[in-house]
Amino acid sequence: MIELPEAQVLAAQFQTTLVGKTIHAVVAASSPHKFAWYHGDPAAYPARLVGSLIQSAEAHGGMLQVNISRARLLFSEGVNLRLLAPGQPPPPKHQLLLHFSDGGALSASVQMYGGLLCWGLEEELDNPYYQVACQKPSPLNPALFTEAYFLSLFTSEAAQPLNLKAALATGQRVPGLGNGVLQDILWKARLSPKRRLNTLSAAQMRTLYHALVSVLAEMTRLGGRDTEKDLFGNPGGYLTVMSAKNNGAPCPACGTPITREAFMGGSVYTCPSCQR
Ligand SMILES: [Zn+2]
Repeated sequence: MIELPEAQVLAAQFQTTLVGKTIHAVVAASSPHKFAWYHGDPAAYPARLVGSLIQSAEAHGGMLQVNISRARLLFSEGVNLRLLAPGQPPPPKHQLLLHFSDGGALSASVQMYGGLLCWGLEEELDNPYYQVACQKPSPLNPALFTEAYFLSLFTSEAAQPLNLKAALATGQRVPGLGNGVLQDILWKARLSPKRRLNTLSAAQMRTLYHALVSVLAEMTRLGGRDTEKDLFGNPGGYLTVMSAKNNGAPCPACGTPITREAFMGGSVYTCPSCQR
């Protein structure tokens, strides 16, 4: 899944390798996928994109926005983006394929679910996830994402009884913070995903804030997580501690085996000794 660090990495890679390329041909929705979300009819994509120039790319939370001379493209969730060299065949199944005038291409393939939204410059994208992701401060900008701001996200009555997974990784409180990056943040804070927010001390909230900001910065600095692939198909350089890669391995802090559990519609990985 594209989460905050991966969206940053992809935007930077787009900036250095794809800006300036002209879209020569477009294949949209060639492999039907029930959970590939388009904006309007994908059959309209070629008319919006062909002949356009890729101008820039930017990350909003866990979304990657590509600015094209006549349109915008937005990729989110489980979309795998891959740059293809001239002559290199695309993956067998893809939901969007952009051919460039220099012979290269970009393929976008949806795994479980994902968004591939394209809209024209004459319209605003009416998508609440996108709007929230554009508006809220990024944890990568600690001047805006301050400890006071972080605490203000959880002051409502409704947030108080939530467990930490629900509080942090749902409800768009922190756009781009999903169940993937959550695991190492909670391990670093030594807190369980099942722990109720209203049982944390002020010191624990402070620790959680610092863990969130520092883990996301480190994941971004190192090119994303090692469980995800970048535009070139390479895994990120951040070595995840709490992920499927390390299920059953000893916790680096205490040696207790790392455990996996299904919790709230997804797996959580924890150290049962360190995380309370
Ligand atoms: Zn441990």
